[in-house]
Amino acid sequence: MSQKHLSDLSHLHFSTQCVHGGVHKDQQYNSVTTPIYPTSTFYWNSLESHSGYDYTRSSNPTRKALEENIAALEGGAGCSATSTGMSAVHCAMALFSPGDHIIAPADLYGGTFRLFERFLKEKGLTFTFVDMTDSNQVRSAFTPQTRAIWIETPSNPLLKVIDIGAVAGLARARGCISICDNTFLSPYLQRPLDFGVDIVVHSTTKYINGHSDVVGGCVVSKSVEHAKQIAWTCNALGLSCSPFDAWLVLRGLKTLSVRMDAQQASALLIARFLEQHPLIEKVYYPGLESHPQHQLARIQQRGPGAMLAFDVRDGRPVAERVCMRTHLFDVAESLGGIESLISFPTTMSHASMTPAARAAAGITEKTVRISVGLEHADDLIADLQQALST
Ligand SMILES: *Cc1c(COP(=O)(O)O)cnc(C)c1O
Repeated sequence: MSQKHLSDLSHLHFSTQCVHGGVHKDQQYNSVTTPIYPTSTFYWNSLESHSGYDYTRSSNPTRKALEENIAALEGGAGCSATSTGMSAVHCAMALFSPGDHIIAPADLYGGTFRLFERFLKEKGLTFTFVDMTDSNQVRSAFTPQTRAIWIETPSNPLLKVIDIGAVAGLARARGCISICDNTFLSPYLQRPLDFGVDIVVHSTTKYINGHSDVVGGCVVSKSVEHAKQIAWTCNALGLSCSPFDAWLVLRGLKTLSVRMDAQQASALLIARFLEQHPLIEKVYYPGLESHPQHQLARIQQRGPGAMLAFDVRDGRPVAERVCMRTHLFDVAESLGGIESLISFPTTMSHASMTPAARAAAGITEKTVRISVGLEHADDLIADLQQALST
């Protein structure tokens, strides 16, 4: 039944798949949504047979529905839904053993950087961090021990775009796999598996759930073999998400494409407004012609997304004013929800980097990041306008 669902849906539009993917029709009362199964265990019919579910850490019908939906949206053979984005990252990294070498972007998500540099390094993995927009840096980072390339695009907070197909190709040519963190765009705007990537991870906390009311993650595999290995790891390490969280994320996911369409339409209007504002020095947004990888983003992404960053002209005082004087933007970390957020990477998301590392990454006290929500673009622009005017 569930298999039939997946194959039936693959010819339908993305928004249709969001609504109908992984919906397990309730046979008992005909509820149109997938019920929440808050049970730790499932009774057996005989000593030899059960319903297909035996224990919720291994598998649960509500979580299964979410996993089928996301696997279809990403074009993967299987998906494991995890408790957080970081547990998804950790689960994917469990494919590697001491001595293995991984190439990763220098401007990696902070939590992923911490896991790699402060935890997995101690367990014997080695890492080289490069500017992944430069293929020569990627080429020269390979060692005989390299097993994988970790991709994250667009980057946080400066929205640098990595050529996924080119980097995945470099990995494959050397017998390595590639893994892509697709959190910033969601499968609606970018499908890394279509460009030769082997595994996709998400923090579903962000766009996939989209309502800032749950933390979650997932790992999607292109091959059945990887999907099995990831599911095994998820069970062995106890990383899977609760049925209630799975249900929340599944509910959020149903409106992914309409949320994304509206949020990125507003993001483009805001980026254009900021670009012409006299107090703004630079705007980082892949949808702007001035973005260095604008053409690549047009090919690789279905749209520019709803995250943007900008540098103000007069440094910290202006950056601080914008953050603190807006009324509609909460000053908060995280992203991808329906409410707009504003943040100051220097003291917030990127505070754990040394000032030198931040400077090398191009993040300064002029840099402000915005996650554009579902409020009307005119209201958001008016709010930024009043915050910028002294
Ligand atoms: C938030 C985030 C994560 C970590 O996800 P959590 O749900 O917070 O554990 C990983 N990667 C990216 C790109 C993120 O934005």
